[in-house]
Amino acid sequence: MSIVEATGLTKTYKSKTGTVHALTGLDLSVPKGTVKALLGPNGAGKTTVVKILTTLIRPNAGSASIDGMDVAARPKEVRRIIGVSGQYAAVDENLTGFENLEMVGRLYHLGAAASRKRAQELIDMFELTAAGNRPVKGFSGGMRRRIDLAGALVINPKVLFLDEPTTGLDPRSRLALWDVITDLVNNGTTVLLTTQYLEEADRLADDIAVIDDGRIIAEGTSDELKAQIGGHRVVVALVDAADNAVAFDVLARHGDGQPTISSDGRGIEVAVTDGPRALQSVLADLGEAGISLHDAGMRRPTLDDVFLKLTGHKADKAAEQDEEKELEKTR
Ligand code: ADP
Repeated sequence: MSIVEATGLTKTYKSKTGTVHALTGLDLSVPKGTVKALLGPNGAGKTTVVKILTTLIRPNAGSASIDGMDVAARPKEVRRIIGVSGQYAAVDENLTGFENLEMVGRLYHLGAAASRKRAQELIDMFELTAAGNRPVKGFSGGMRRRIDLAGALVINPKVLFLDEPTTGLDPRSRLALWDVITDLVNNGTTVLLTTQYLEEADRLADDIAVIDDGRIIAEGTSDELKAQIGGHRVVVALVDAADNAVAFDVLARHGDGQPTISSDGRGIEVAVTDGPRALQSVLADLGEAGISLHDAGMRRPTLDDVFLKLTGHKADKAAEQDEEKELEKTR
């Protein structure tokens, strides 16, 4: 049995505006010592999964266990072996970084001396020495995430939950946090992380479960998922739209599946398995056909590509609906 197991999780929220089916029979397992990413757009149900697994809320149906302990039946014991870092994790704004970590230790009954020792270790490990003595309210976004993550590690948890660890961070802070998380997972901590970024799942996780509308729609290693959606995408932008039809044919010949218009509307693109080779062939054929280009290149698939391929709809349904409304207006 895996250290994290969930079967048939169902969760419905009742609100003034109606009933929301946040989870609709979700199965998940995370083997010990591995990192699993739960990848999905806003509103897919990721936080609800984390909240159930960390005993904050109960499912309407289904069950889950951590290290063999049922989360609904034995919440106190479960809480002793897990760490949680996420948007709703508690950090006291008026306390310093050090004091926050020390407080977590006291809440876990580590004792005064042990709490201080652990707080200092974590301050050093997360390179927060300078910030450690300042109140958290003055911290930058990246520093906040680090102190929050440090808080989740005070008790050396058997399982660590990271709910969207880098959402909202600038690219540099994101890279820095990825390094910290990579060090952690290299030490063998079992991690369930949620993310909206395919790149983040790819970088940190052994296995990726794609979640949409409260259930898992695809699962596998990053390579397995990429094999399904294509490892790269070749994109070309033409000088003259009159060449579109010929270019479509060229891309179709060298790609896996049908070419599409890029999401920014400026290019034509197609999924390919071997990016560099496909790009060379596409450029050679377009050159031979006498087609002039504004731009050409390769890019990695995004969450949107994964969703379009797996579900036929975009990851961000609200944005897609907005786009459709805009299109309606122009018709
Ligand atoms: P994610 O973390 O993937 O963004 P969530 O688990 O937060 O998704 O939310 C799943 C769905 O449940 C969304 O439609 C969200 O609006 C809804 N939801 C989440 N929490 C509540 C709540 N407390 N009351 C009502 N609806 C909620």
